[in-house]
Amino acid sequence: MTVKHQVPDELLTAYVAGNLPEAFNLVVATHVSLCDEARVRLEALEAVGGSLLNDMDTAEMSHGSLEATLRLISDRPKEAIKTERVPTRKCDVLPQPLMEYVGGDLSKVKWRSIGMGAKQAILKSSSEADVRLLYIPAGSELPDHGHHGKELTLVLQGAFIDGDARFARGDLEVADENMEHTPVADIGVDCICLAATDAPLKFNKLVPRLAQPFLRI
Ligand code: ZN
Repeated sequence: MTVKHQVPDELLTAYVAGNLPEAFNLVVATHVSLCDEARVRLEALEAVGGSLLNDMDTAEMSHGSLEATLRLISDRPKEAIKTERVPTRKCDVLPQPLMEYVGGDLSKVKWRSIGMGAKQAILKSSSEADVRLLYIPAGSELPDHGHHGKELTLVLQGAFIDGDARFARGDLEVADENMEHTPVADIGVDCICLAATDAPLKFNKLVPRLAQPFLRI
């Protein structure tokens, strides 16, 4: 499947280079597993990255230091989560990279209520960024907010509307410091998203702001 809202080039490049926090790696890997076109772009970047690494090997070799080259390769970040090339079954809400991460399907997810019928499950990740599954009842609005950093939101089930754009399964929304929004879950099916942030959100209303430390959002 090819989705409408794909991972931007700069984010995909950072993913290939191993420069992203674990939480963002998981979102990008899961997105790529749902989007054939993003996977083709990823493979092209990996090929470029591979040939660059080969060039670097040559440069290092000319200085006669095999050890330095091997060290260079082994020092490359290993956090990048490889995407599964085997297509997942249509009925799975959680794509393969996420199932491996959660240790099973949706039934393994430990949801916690965050009020108004919405739920979240914070997944384990390195300290640089948080990643969580969000469950938003169909038709519900998320509190309007801005961002102190980057926020990646990937739809796994249902859809949400943000301004003029609609994000459905596989679509990735990237928000940053310059963006304020009030995403609304589309009617029909409850929306499940995978969301990662590298800084707390900026809530405009008092109640979500008060709840923020408890929700770790
Ligand atoms: Zn946001």
